[in-house]
Amino acid sequence: MVKNSAINNSILELVGETPLIKLRNITKNFKGNFFAKVEAFNPGHSSKDRIALHIINDAEKKGILKKGATIVETTSGNTGFSLAMISIVKGYKCILAVSDKSSQDKIDLLKTMGAEVHVCPANVAADDPRSYYEVAKTIHKKTKNSVYINQYFNELNIEAHYRSTGPEIWKQTEGKITHLVAASGTGGTISGTGKYLKEQNPDIKILGVDAIGSVLKKFHETGEFDVNEIKPYKIEGLGKTLIPTATDFDVIDVYEKVSDKDAAFAARDIVKQEGLFCGYTSGAVMQATKQYDAMNFFDKDSFVVVIFPDHGSRYLNKIYNDSWMKNQGFLD
Ligand code: PMP
Repeated sequence: MVKNSAINNSILELVGETPLIKLRNITKNFKGNFFAKVEAFNPGHSSKDRIALHIINDAEKKGILKKGATIVETTSGNTGFSLAMISIVKGYKCILAVSDKSSQDKIDLLKTMGAEVHVCPANVAADDPRSYYEVAKTIHKKTKNSVYINQYFNELNIEAHYRSTGPEIWKQTEGKITHLVAASGTGGTISGTGKYLKEQNPDIKILGVDAIGSVLKKFHETGEFDVNEIKPYKIEGLGKTLIPTATDFDVIDVYEKVSDKDAAFAARDIVKQEGLFCGYTSGAVMQATKQYDAMNFFDKDSFVVVIFPDHGSRYLNKIYNDSWMKNQGFLD
């Protein structure tokens, strides 16, 4: 069905088929042609609608998810919003373990969407009982008739993007895409989209975006989990301090790391130069694209697709707030 061409039975029919938009100004000094896949056009305003719906539909089909069930997940916010939204439409209860790095707006939003929210410390080891991974596992064990989505270690996360984001980009670019630049958190987006695109054309380069303070780039290069790479950082949803199995490292050609400050200014630039109100990781993707351009990854014929994962409204008290920027030392 062509989106918006007829009456929709629920907002869930509007997940996916997001637009690809030519970047007109922000990349004008880069070599190549640049297009943004703007995931804020999903009904839950992020790419996470795709995986949440795919995983829930799959569990229903397999009979794992039964009437009146509870959905449990760890989330930096976006997956939580998508799960809460889908739970309302489909009649499930939703319990979320959230990192305290998530903005207050995101936490309030999840509660507004009817979810039960447990806020957990971000700067503890993943296997610490206080971490949001362990808290979610405990809730799942204690709650009868519950399903743990487990996006970091769920193959269906990759499959959701393999079946939707990848084919959409291939079709929208009429097979002309030469490079994909995407953020890596759970790794589902970059792995699933990248896998599909490389199957269509093995020459397409898959360029990852990681955070300074995360272990992913080093692990990709050396196979080593280096704890010395780990330090606190502000960008939510980007990079990891564990190795998610939802990341297929073989699909990714290279990673580039970005700083909190550069990503914040890049997000503000996207707004100013393109009129696209995007989130913090969209800024990270834009900043990494700038770094890749400076390293001569592209030439004048390159057809580069960058994925902007979510909407700026979730960061009004962070990167779009001058006081927050001053408190971080990003603005004078
Ligand atoms: N951006 C944001 C805002 C996110 O919440 C996430 C996921 N945590 C990502 C990017 C990364 O996407 P993925 O998990 O598919 O790697």
